[in-house]
Amino acid sequence: MYELNLYTRSILYNIEPIGLGTGQVESLSSYLIRVAYEHNITVGHLFNKMVFPHMNKNYLERSSNYGGNRFYEGAKTVNGYMENAIELVGILEKLTSRNDLSNLTLLKLKEFISLRNLLKDSLAWCPDCIRNWKNDKKVIYYPLIWLLKPVNICKKHNRFLIDRCHVCNRTVDILRRQMIPGYCPNCCSILSKGDQTNRFNPAEINWEIFVYENMEELLMLNPNQIDAKGFKRRFINELNFINEEYFNNSVASFSRYLNTPKSTLRYWLNAINFPSIENVLQVCFKLNKNILDLLLKSQKLDANIFQINDKQVINNKTNHTRKPLNYDLIEKKMIELSTMETPLSMNSVAKIIGRDRRVLYRNFPDLCKQISKRYNDYITERSEQRIDRLKEQIKTAFNELTSEEIYPSRRKIEEKVNKIGVLKEKVLQDYWKVLLIQSGYEGKKGREFFNDES
Ligand SMILES: [Zn+2]
Ligand SMILES: [Zn+2]
Repeated sequence: MYELNLYTRSILYNIEPIGLGTGQVESLSSYLIRVAYEHNITVGHLFNKMVFPHMNKNYLERSSNYGGNRFYEGAKTVNGYMENAIELVGILEKLTSRNDLSNLTLLKLKEFISLRNLLKDSLAWCPDCIRNWKNDKKVIYYPLIWLLKPVNICKKHNRFLIDRCHVCNRTVDILRRQMIPGYCPNCCSILSKGDQTNRFNPAEINWEIFVYENMEELLMLNPNQIDAKGFKRRFINELNFINEEYFNNSVASFSRYLNTPKSTLRYWLNAINFPSIENVLQVCFKLNKNILDLLLKSQKLDANIFQINDKQVINNKTNHTRKPLNYDLIEKKMIELSTMETPLSMNSVAKIIGRDRRVLYRNFPDLCKQISKRYNDYITERSEQRIDRLKEQIKTAFNELTSEEIYPSRRKIEEKVNKIGVLKEKVLQDYWKVLLIQSGYEGKKGREFFNDES
């Protein structure tokens, strides 16, 4: 009876991944560490008792039972898009009753980005982010973007990520049998310290910022928007177009410009090979275009809007004058977009207009700031509304339970609200505790108050 009951609900708490739908989305490995932590078990225990038994590969189980490390050594791939990531997502979704965990991997990039050089071998992290989360009593987690090989910075804190513990100077594995989010698994020091020389002036590292922003945009993509199949074709077409338009079909000058061997470039131009993510980023950077410009279904490539990120090349080309921005048209469009009923981010506005966001900021600073502010206000308001709505639901559930003379435990409330795990969210959990105290439960049932989970 007890078992049956367990299986009708989820076996693990339905813990919400951090940052879903944003560029700061949590990685699957981080989620696993947090799930173990929230259940007060080790990662090793979580895998041995709950995950491995569901996996097809018996060797994993054997390897782990006998102290082998094969699974953990290959753990960076759980954040990728190969079979093991897909399998793990499936198992965890069943155990937690969620259906959105594939967003914590790179599954949606599968069709157009090669896995080669895409994932780091060990953890990289921003000590400032970890320190802030800790001080603000927020959940500490490892965003997927930190684990992408081309990404070296935290844009929020203008600093390079670090990949060695400041105390023991060792690297930190992506996944280990014993791990606590935010702490070095080798020496147990908190990962919030790091030297200050890792900071930079954003104006000096355009390339790093460009990579960061592009990867962030890719992580935010809605798979329905992507024309993955068309992406490679468009990329190759773009290259050929540029070769013709700016380099008079001279592969030698184009390859010098891109700093890429002629033979490699020729393979790309003839669609024999496709560049790795780093090459794609490099090419896009030189051309002052975002990867997304080539990837979105709705995006029309507009040669007039095209710019090369290097004045010299353009000046060298005879008989070529770059068409200027059509200010009036862009301004009109921006005003139109800035008054849409659902506010748009500057990222989306830039995408719709087909111009780099920075170009828009340079030319229409006030309008851009206005759009950005409106969007931020909207997001803040929306999340406040969400919390208010949930509090309202929790209160109703709480009152109903007390009037039925049922103790309003965490689990009971979550069942009534029909959102298992909702009280894991700190602000809502605090609200629930306040309700308990106000109703005099804390004094009466002190033990249950802290222990009741069933
Ligand atoms: Zn940071
Ligand atoms: Zn350490």
